[in-house]
Amino acid sequence: MKLIELSSINQYYGQMQVLSNISLSLEEGEVLGLFGHNGAGKTTCMKLVLGLLKPTEGSVSVFGGLPTEAQRRRALGYLPENVTFYPQLTGLETLRHFARIKGASLSQVEELLDKVGLAHASQRRVKTYSKGMRQRLGLAQALLGQPRLLLLDEPTVGLDPIATQELYQLIDSLRCQGTGIILCSHVLPGVEAYIDRAAILSHGQLQAVGTLAQLAEQVGLPAWIRVKITEPQKWHDHLSGLGHQVRLLPG
Ligand code: ADP
Repeated sequence: MKLIELSSINQYYGQMQVLSNISLSLEEGEVLGLFGHNGAGKTTCMKLVLGLLKPTEGSVSVFGGLPTEAQRRRALGYLPENVTFYPQLTGLETLRHFARIKGASLSQVEELLDKVGLAHASQRRVKTYSKGMRQRLGLAQALLGQPRLLLLDEPTVGLDPIATQELYQLIDSLRCQGTGIILCSHVLPGVEAYIDRAAILSHGQLQAVGTLAQLAEQVGLPAWIRVKITEPQKWHDHLSGLGHQVRLLPG
C-alpha cells in the first residue's frame, strides 16, 4: 500500500518557488532517503506530508487521502531537524507529555526510552542532555503510538558513530515491521546500506529517484556530481570506494 503520494507539486513561499514539479511516493516497509544540500526543499516536502503546508499546486495523499488530525497524531511520527523540549522536564516527563498530546499509551514510554538508549538518563532534566541525547529523545517522541509512517529530518545530527549505527539498525527493524520511513539527509555516506531508494533534490527539483544501483545505471555519474553537495570530498571518497571514477568540479 502507498503511504505517501506527492504528485506534481509546485510549492511557493510568497513569490519564491521552492519545489518544482515534485512527484514522490513511499510504500509500506520502505525506506526512502531524501538527499540534498541545505535549502534544497527537503523540510518543505516533509511539511507537505505532515499537512503543515498546503500544496500551492499539485496533490498530496497520505494513507490514501488527506490524513485526518487523529491519523496525523497517531500514525505519523516526525523528528524535526531542530527538536525542542522543555529544559526543566526529565526525559521521562518529556515523553509522557508527548504521549498525552499524541493520545498514545503511557505504558510505552519507558520501553521507548530503553529502545533509544536513554533508560539510564530518564530521571535527568533534559537541559543536562547532550545534543545526541536530545536527538534520541526526539526519536523516541516520533516513535510514540507505533506510527506506520516515520519522517526523520537529519536524524543523525549530533550522534556519535556508534549511536548513528544504532539509529540505522533501529530504522531497519522498524522497516521490517512494515513502517514506511523517509530519511532526510544532506549526506549519503553511511546511510546507503539502510535505504531502499534514494531521491536527490537540488534547488527544489528532483534530480533522480531510484535504488542506488538504478541511479548509477540510469542517470550515470554526471547527474550525481552535478548535485550541489555540502561535503564533496566525502562523496568523492564514497563513490571512489564503490569503484566509480569521480572528478570533483570546482564550486
Ligand atoms: P532543506 O530542508 O532541504 O534545507 P527547506 O525546505 O527548509 O530546505 O527550504 C527550501 C527553501 O525554502 C530554502 O530556500 C528556504 O530558505 C526556504 N524556506 C523554508 N521555509 C520558509 C518559510 N517559512 N518562508 C520562506 N522561505 C522558506
